[in-house]
Amino acid sequence: MARSLRECDKDTMNYPMSRSVLVLNATLEPLSLVSVRRAIVLLLREKAELVEATERMLHSANHALPEPLVIRLTRYVRLPHRSVPPTRGAVMLRDAYTCQYCGDRPGKHALTVDHVAPRCRGGGHDWANLATACKRCNHKKGSMTPREAGMKLMRRPFEPTYVALVLLSNPTAASRWEALMGAAF
Ligand SMILES: [Zn+2]
Repeated sequence: MARSLRECDKDTMNYPMSRSVLVLNATLEPLSLVSVRRAIVLLLREKAELVEATERMLHSANHALPEPLVIRLTRYVRLPHRSVPPTRGAVMLRDAYTCQYCGDRPGKHALTVDHVAPRCRGGGHDWANLATACKRCNHKKGSMTPREAGMKLMRRPFEPTYVALVLLSNPTAASRWEALMGAAF
């Protein structure tokens, strides 16, 4: 086994570069996305098992394997909490590119990130105080709190988990995971 692994690590399998493979923990909770190449290595090392594959086969001199879409780690991995910094892109991703005041979705470039409690009034630059806002709502709100401006947030801003952001950034992986969950329960 060790010999064939080494061969596989450097072999010429024709990996589709663009696709990412969803990695589930042993408990089926999603963990991350990895490259097809990384997924194959995990499968060959028996660190993971195949949950779902495409119709395609990947060939090398030593192996023929279905192209993985979803794999599951054979052992449970406990991960430390990974906090994600509240960048503009990450806040908008959490809020699904939707203005949190009026529900408008004018596109990424027409959106801003609003400090719910204005910075000049002591509001922090953290997940709980940041919300996606369209330019119109941001302008209307100015340096007021939502209450002073007579505006209401659609939901209270929160810190998303790393995995939630991973899934939001990859709708294909997210829908696949939802389908698997639907089939499992
Ligand atoms: Zn708005």
